Amino acid sequence: MKLAQGILFTERQILQRVDELAKQIEKDYQGRELVLCAILKGSIPFLADLMRKIHGDVRLTLIEMKSMVDGKHASILFTSSVDLSGKHVLVVEDIVDTGITLDYLMKHLEAERGPTSLKVCAFLDKPEARKVEVPIHYRGFTVPDRFVVGYGLDWHERYRNLPYITWVEPE
Ligand code: 5GP
Repeated sequence: MKLAQGILFTERQILQRVDELAKQIEKDYQGRELVLCAILKGSIPFLADLMRKIHGDVRLTLIEMKSMVDGKHASILFTSSVDLSGKHVLVVEDIVDTGITLDYLMKHLEAERGPTSLKVCAFLDKPEARKVEVPIHYRGFTVPDRFVVGYGLDWHERYRNLPYITWVEPE
């Protein structure tokens, strides 16, 4: 696979969209304590840009998830301990593809962590690949069914540092 020539979203487009999302989130959670629950590692640039634009009472917890390779196994590792019970929790995800990872996490958080509210903010949404319906309350952009990289998203750990979104394609 190689990096494509084209760009799906430029750095400027991304920062503008993140700004819009942050404004909406700030408005919706005004006067409430918000806990951002970000999934590592792909959401790091998005999280960093987004959280600095949300003014208000914002806390952060980080989660590492091992994806379900065989459809059976997934593990959730909380890398920092913020109590989510009774809190307004917003899951921050890089991309929703099949929806399996997010569906698993949402069910876990609802059943085990007792949040007052639980919503999802996904930087990218790839609806054509969806296998499980998951709610996306805040969406950055919709992308076609390609393997996208950049702005935190990797291909075998490469390209996370690109400030824009592009994709990889066969050589
Ligand atoms: P899902 O469980 O929704 O199929 O996939 C969730 C995870 O798979 C994402 O958080 C992301 O890490 C990875 N993923 C899915 N589609 C893509 C893609 O197009 N590009 C990259 N870099 N990762 C993806």
